Amino acid sequence: MRIDLHTHSTASDGTDTPAELVAAARAAQVDVVALTDHDTTAGWAPAISALPPGITLVPGAELSCTAPDPSGRPIPLHLLGYLFDPNNEMFLAELGRLRDSRLSRGRRIVDRLAADGVPISWEQVLEISAGGNVGRPHIGRALMQAGVVESVDDAFGRYLHSGSPYYVPKEEIDVLVAVRLVRTSGGVPVFAHPLARRRGRVVPDSVIAAMATAGLAGLEVDHPDHDDADRAHLRGLAAELDLLITGSSDYHGGNKAVPLGAYGTAPAAFEALVAQASGAHPVAA
Ligand code: AMP
Ligand code: FE
Ligand code: FE
Ligand code: ZN
Repeated sequence: MRIDLHTHSTASDGTDTPAELVAAARAAQVDVVALTDHDTTAGWAPAISALPPGITLVPGAELSCTAPDPSGRPIPLHLLGYLFDPNNEMFLAELGRLRDSRLSRGRRIVDRLAADGVPISWEQVLEISAGGNVGRPHIGRALMQAGVVESVDDAFGRYLHSGSPYYVPKEEIDVLVAVRLVRTSGGVPVFAHPLARRRGRVVPDSVIAAMATAGLAGLEVDHPDHDDADRAHLRGLAAELDLLITGSSDYHGGNKAVPLGAYGTAPAAFEALVAQASGAHPVAA
């Protein structure tokens, strides 16, 4: 069984449409794939209608969150929510707020780049995102088109990383509020790539313990941004806090180098996760 619980489509910052993504999962011999676009469930319906036989889709989302930090500057982090009720009003309101903020913040990043003579425009970024939830990778694509970077990775390294003068933060949800929101919507919350240090600051173990108390179900341990030491540390923490362990590729199509199914989740952990859900069901064609 290959179970990949974290992927992105064109509904956010992936490059495969939801239909292409489920077909690609089938081609990669993945048996179970979760669609977890940033702050949106817009990909669920098109992925479900295009679902090939032999593959199970787990509808989800990756929520943009923050944890308070003693320095006063909140730490951004990502929470995966699986199988929540997509029509829960509080959930919908939060997603709307995050989506609107992605638009205004994306425009501000582009304005800062353009003011410095970098030849990209907001219209170009909107065309690239094609109705999907706007994120920095779309701006990275625009920078590629303009010939100023070689890849989206290169764009992050030079212009888009969180320490860059062009960086603008977006609205986020307090992570403990988000954990409870996923649970009250019948979903299952899993902390995405908790130790992905190359993206910026990461939270201390005390925050993970507080998330566990708030209702966290699991930790994404096997992820391309974790090294062996990170994984060992997270496994210990999961045992201590009685959390499930998941693994996933965090596939973004052409916006990242990692292929679908590159990392996976054990069947027992997946079953335990599904058993905790009441807002939505995994879908098989
Ligand atoms: P945003 O949601 O607009 O803040 O952009 C964050 C997204 O950019 C993440 O979800 C990743 O998909 C992507 N990302 C973050 N850091 C990098 C990086 N160093 N290289 C490529 N993509 C990245
Ligand atoms: Fe992303
Ligand atoms: Fe993420
Ligand atoms: Zn992701």
